[in-house]
Amino acid sequence: MEVVPTKTHIALLASPGMGHLIPVLELGQRFAVHHRFLVTIFVVTTNASTAKSQLPLYSSYRDLLNIVFLPPVDVSDLVTDSMAIVSQLVLIMRHAMPILRTEIAELKPCPSALMVDLFGTEAFKIAEEFGMLKYMFDTGNAWFLALSLYYPHQDETNKHGHVYLHKPLNIPGCAPLEYEDTVDLYFQPEDRALQDDFAKMGLDMARADGILVNSWEYLEPKTLKALRDPNLLGRLSSVPVHPVGPLIRPAKPVKDPVSRSAALDWLDLQPAGSVLYVSFGSGGTLTADQLTELAWGLELSQQRFVWVVRPPIEGSAFGSFFRQDKRTEDGTPDYLPDGFVSRTREVGLVVEMWAPQTEVLAHQSVGGFLSHCGWNSTLESIINGVPMICWPLYAEQGMNTAVLTDHLGMATRAREVGPGGVVGREVIEKAIRRVMDEDEEHGRLARAKVLELKHSAEVALAKGGSSHGSLERVAKECKTGRTDLRERARGA
Ligand code: UDP
Repeated sequence: MEVVPTKTHIALLASPGMGHLIPVLELGQRFAVHHRFLVTIFVVTTNASTAKSQLPLYSSYRDLLNIVFLPPVDVSDLVTDSMAIVSQLVLIMRHAMPILRTEIAELKPCPSALMVDLFGTEAFKIAEEFGMLKYMFDTGNAWFLALSLYYPHQDETNKHGHVYLHKPLNIPGCAPLEYEDTVDLYFQPEDRALQDDFAKMGLDMARADGILVNSWEYLEPKTLKALRDPNLLGRLSSVPVHPVGPLIRPAKPVKDPVSRSAALDWLDLQPAGSVLYVSFGSGGTLTADQLTELAWGLELSQQRFVWVVRPPIEGSAFGSFFRQDKRTEDGTPDYLPDGFVSRTREVGLVVEMWAPQTEVLAHQSVGGFLSHCGWNSTLESIINGVPMICWPLYAEQGMNTAVLTDHLGMATRAREVGPGGVVGREVIEKAIRRVMDEDEEHGRLARAKVLELKHSAEVALAKGGSSHGSLERVAKECKTGRTDLRERARGA
């Protein structure tokens, strides 16, 4: 009788937000397709999180993955208006732990490994209880990972100089972090809960059996070297770092009627490389004044565009992250400047709330992306060879901007902030022309650079490539239940 070997079973945990969920689903899919693992994905939901509203997204994964939606977590009584997004996510994840434990206890066979994103590291206790390997999947880049690991150990003088004197922050072996690109937590030094939450995540992830990061060797060689160097960041934690990226949701074929949308139909009619795609991710929102300036900037630039718009929100740059805004009845947003939609009808398309982004970026008519620089949006742009205009809003998007502009040269900044923190229409117009205008040298260089990076990403993911190899190593660990780290510890 033929003995059928038991399949390796692993579990992944996604925190709320499409920017966490999509790469977790993609990672799970890799293990299911390339390694034939059984993969269970736990999705933490809130009543308002966008996750459930994107049901079409799940249909493409359902055949391969066991997707379990945990019951919505309600922390509305504990959340305050001024609470940082990191603290809100930490709180939600903390409240999801008991039900996650119950669900894991019921899984048969018990998974050999638990992989969590940045906000799920409290689940490591559950992994330890059930004897599972524990991995953190950093859905951002390696530079942000370096900051996260360094944060609990940072030099107080350096931190003080960064926060109060706006000096660069030195992360051992990495590019210095300029104040203008820094993460939210350095803008809120008085928010102790935020500082503690972030420090705890850094300490927790250092206890993992491995950290997977959605980046690749060619993109961030210096930072990855620093993370492994025992004299630099490797001194703080011996956790192995596995760059497995870029993992993004691939675009469906453009002819597929399911993914067809008005935006794609419109793009079909435009010249190649002529359209600027404008979107601020799954949660980003602008104030009313800023929305008006952006509309004028687009109009003045006279470039073609597809713009994903959301109603303005004052006082929060992540206004759509935890709530679902409704589309207007007739699809015409009433919060844009009078006459904007009709004046730009020939050259532009306004899409309310949500667009099929990977399909849009893969369309040959798209030649630029004005983005909040969430890491998924960034990777989607690179994989499609589209240069970017950076408009960071919150979280680590400023760091991503520095990577794309100063470190890599595939993007330009749209952020010379004017009075009242609003980016003016002329600044926006100029930034758009710099990338979209054929005669602009900056745009030419950015296009060449992004194509070089696209090629390097394809090489990294192909058989024999660095990211492919990293994923194979992690898969082997999940199969055998043994990691280099544990072997070394045993030998010591
Ligand atoms: N996205 C999309 N359509 C939209 C806005 C966002 O498909 O209109 C997807 C986008 O392709 C990306 C994810 O949502 O995969 C957003 O992740 P990212 O890390 O860029 O930003 P976040 O939303 O986490 O700030």
